[in-house]
This record gives sequence, C-alpha cells and structure tokens, in this order.
Amino acid sequence: MDYTEGTGWHDARIVPYEPFMLDPAAIVLHYGQTVFEGLKAYVTDDKEVVLFRPDENMKRLNRSNERLCMPNFDEELMLDALKELVSLDKEWIPDREGTSLYIRPFIFATQPYLGVAPSKTYRLMIILSPVGAYYKEGMNPVKIAVESEFVRAAVGGTGSAKTAGNYAGAMKAQEVAEAAGYSQVLWLDAKEHKYIEEVGAMNVFFKINGEVITPSLNGSILEGITRKSVIELLQSWGFPVTERKVSIQEIFDANAAGTLEEAFGTGTAAVISPMGELSWGDEKCEINGNQIGELSLKLYETITGIQTGRVEDPFNWVVKVD
Ligand code: PMP
Repeated sequence: MDYTEGTGWHDARIVPYEPFMLDPAAIVLHYGQTVFEGLKAYVTDDKEVVLFRPDENMKRLNRSNERLCMPNFDEELMLDALKELVSLDKEWIPDREGTSLYIRPFIFATQPYLGVAPSKTYRLMIILSPVGAYYKEGMNPVKIAVESEFVRAAVGGTGSAKTAGNYAGAMKAQEVAEAAGYSQVLWLDAKEHKYIEEVGAMNVFFKINGEVITPSLNGSILEGITRKSVIELLQSWGFPVTERKVSIQEIFDANAAGTLEEAFGTGTAAVISPMGELSWGDEKCEINGNQIGELSLKLYETITGIQTGRVEDPFNWVVKVD
C-alpha cells in the first residue's frame, strides 16, 4: 500500500514476495524514517488460526508513526488486511508443536530527497514468515550483561517508538555482550546510568519479596504488548505488581539479601524469558539458583495457553482469522 501527500493511502495489493525498486535517494535509506511492528499468528489445538492482541500492535504502529512524522492509517483496515494475508496461505500451519507465523508490518519513507525533512510519500508492506518454537530444547534461563558504556535511548528520543534507528544503535553493545558470552544486554537510563530500562527486544520484570516490579513507561522504553499482558494477568490473579523506577543497585542488593526471587524478560518472540545471571561490571549475580521461577513458568504457560486455545481467554486477547 502506498501513501502520497494529498491523496492519502492507496493501492492496497497482495503481490508475490520478491525484491522491489527503491530510489537510491529515498529518505528512509539516509535518515531512517521508518517504523515497524512484530506480531504472531498461532494455531489453536482445534486448528483455528488466531492473532494475539493485534489491535495493540496497530495502535503502537500509529504511535510510532506519530513520533517519526509519518502518516497514520486506519487501524481497522489494517487489521482486515492482516487477517486476509494470514488466511491466504495456511501452508505454515504446523505439524510441529509451537510453530507460529511471524508478521512484520513496516512503513518507510520513499521520497527521493537528500535533505532532512519528512517524506511526502511512503510505502506500507507486510511480510510473513513461519517460525519454529522459541524453546525447542525447553525453556532455559539466560545470561544478561548490564550495559555500562552504551545507551539505547534517552527520554525525549525515539526509544518508545518501534523504529529502525533504535536497533541499529543497539547493535554494538549487543556484539560486545555476545563476544563476552552473554545473550543480551540490559539497558540502563541515559541520564544517570542507574535505572533499568529494558533488554534487547524485551521488557523486564523482577520479583522481590513477593512483589513484582517493572520499570515504568518513561518515554524511552518500548511499551511491550507482552509486558501489558503480564501486568493485566498478574492483576487478575491478585498479585502485587508495581510499575516504577528500578535501579540496578536495588536488584543486586535484593539478590545479596536473598529477596530477589525471579527475574524475566517479556516479548513476542519468547513470551517469557527467565534470567539466570546478571553481570554488571565486575559484579555478577545468579538469580533463583539459575532456575526457572514458578511465576515465570505460570505466566508462560498461561499466555501460550491462551494463544493456543488451551487456556480460557477471559480478556478476549485472541482474534480469530477466518
Ligand atoms: N522492547 C523492545 C525494544 C522490543 O523490540 C520489543 C519487541 N517488540 C519489546 C520490548 C517487547 O515488546 P512486545 O511484547 O510487544 O513484543
């Protein structure tokens, strides 16, 4: 689908997957004016295809659009487009447990112009790819490095938008962490380098002394849909959950005091990813004996259960694709 200033969105079409032409001077290539989303279609045990909270992804895409001076679109129309695309090809439907269909809508600035200004033309594309189960060999706690040198985003920047530049800027830290044997980086705030923000492509939660805490949405972290779902689930279970500033020192202190019970990341890819070890400069802390926590497992099983129709969906999170 294309957008032209004055005309609006037009020419919605479904075409075979193939390379496409882009002007070498297209604004997206030089100034990164682009946004994207990531969501999944799942198959229930009754072989029904469902999307998980797609309305939230559409809303977030429009919020990202707003931040990047890009045109909004009709969220209902996009949802219809998503459903139509997903229902076109059912070949990905698994005979293997846990397979899902990853859906990547993205919008980018196509106007050829070598000046820094919002484009007058855009393209919106949606590509799809089957993905295997995230935990093929079972769920495993991950080792995370607290990032001391680089920052991902600052308040007032683009951290709360899903835009390419955030990820490009994060690659160096990820590369260094991987070389040191860590799977991901835990970002701290840009101003004081003290407060926890999020991990690579996940939001983070800590269970301390029976209470679950997660960094509040401060304008520089992404508002994860899994994060939102975890908070809503915990509240529905009557579990104390608090969104507030969380310093990295507090986590290390809690661990030393024996009150850090669990830590986990949340995101579309893994749903729940238990953290087994945190490293911060010369300090290391092992969490919950490097074991998967009870609450992490319950959250994982409930959310994946809702996605596959094994657990009742009291929130109406899943949307059927006919
Ligand atoms: N933070 C970042 C930077 C991400 O890219 C993602 C993945 N979209 C998340 C958090 C988790 O968001 P969600 O639960 O919507 O996948």
